[in-house]
Amino acid sequence: MLRYNELLSRHTSFRIGGPAYCWAEPGNPKEILEAISLAKSKNKKFIIAGKGTNLLARDEGFDGVIIHLAGDFEKIELKSGDIIKVGAGLGLAKLVKYAFDKSLGGCEFLAGIPGDLGGAIFMNAGARRPKGEPGFIEIKDILLDIEVLDLKDKKMEPTGGSCGRNTERPEHICGLKAATVLGRECIKILGKKEIDFRYRSSGLDGKIILGARLSLKKDKKEDMQLRISEFNKKREWLTKIGFPNAGSIFKNPGADKPAGMLIESCGLKGKRIGDAEISGVHANVIVNLGKAAAKDVLGLIDLARTSVKQKFGIDLELELKIL
Ligand SMILES: Cc1cc2nc3c(=O)[nH]c(=O)nc-3n(C[C@H](O)[C@H](O)[C@H](O)COP(=O)(O)OP(=O)(O)OC[C@H]3O[C@@H](n4cnc5c(N)ncnc54)[C@H](O)[C@@H]3O)c2cc1C
Repeated sequence: MLRYNELLSRHTSFRIGGPAYCWAEPGNPKEILEAISLAKSKNKKFIIAGKGTNLLARDEGFDGVIIHLAGDFEKIELKSGDIIKVGAGLGLAKLVKYAFDKSLGGCEFLAGIPGDLGGAIFMNAGARRPKGEPGFIEIKDILLDIEVLDLKDKKMEPTGGSCGRNTERPEHICGLKAATVLGRECIKILGKKEIDFRYRSSGLDGKIILGARLSLKKDKKEDMQLRISEFNKKREWLTKIGFPNAGSIFKNPGADKPAGMLIESCGLKGKRIGDAEISGVHANVIVNLGKAAAKDVLGLIDLARTSVKQKFGIDLELELKIL
């Protein structure tokens, strides 16, 4: 499905963003290529967007094609044992519900994260573990492998259904043959160890994540429900934010130096530009009070960065992606 001149404020949790030249919702790899061909034929860029919960779209919009995976990419399937195969376009809430219904534990931490699987893998989404357990759990911890469309890798030649070094895997996650559907372009499988996962990044720039296999564990529903409640409890503050937002704006520069604390120490909680405000609930969140423009949010980002640099000598790195 293609929609021209589509307002990005409809597709971002910030509810901010001007029009995209085209919003495409391909339901299979062939339609992804058609969307890319459209961009190329008009000499425009293309990018992938998930649920837009970590995105700031600019006021002038995006002069290109935005690809949002739908259709076949929203499928989920139980494979052998405790392994599930999930399309990149599936929402995390649906993934958690599916796993819960099958009594497969391990992905409860994703319960309150509002993105889809592709966005979560690209961002290496995660959460602090519940009380008594140390550190964080991230999507990489439950990932076996992913399937990507890598349009940059010109070395790869399709070979009758599979390609690249991982030819041993009998089928693609999307069940389509690369050679017949994709021509020179290639689908490949990347094992977890081949991906450069770090804190809120995956190094997968330039690749389109199509789906993944997740490794879960048989578990008791009561225990899983308890863990979901514990994760949700940790996120209760988010429900108090009350306005559209995109979650954390900056990465935490260190466990003992949360970005929110640094920004708050600069006296910026509640600071407003236009209709954008540094949340009074958590200073690492910017909210749209109603009619905020991207330039207002960018102004607050700039202010927070400059203030933290001046006061603490720390460079804050964006977690938010800007289109
Ligand atoms: C209220 C709230 C709470 C949040 N809580 C958390 C949290 O606890 N932990 C956490 O980690 N994050 C959190 N986030 C941030 C965000 O939800 C996550 O980063 C999420 O994983 C982003 O998924 P998305 O589908 O919305 O991706 P988008 O925001 O649409 O995209 C994010 C990036 O991923 C890329 N991308 C998306 N899909 C694909 C794909 N198929 N192939 C290649 N690239 C792709 C995009 O190009 C973009 O660069 C929160 C956000 C909000 C609004």
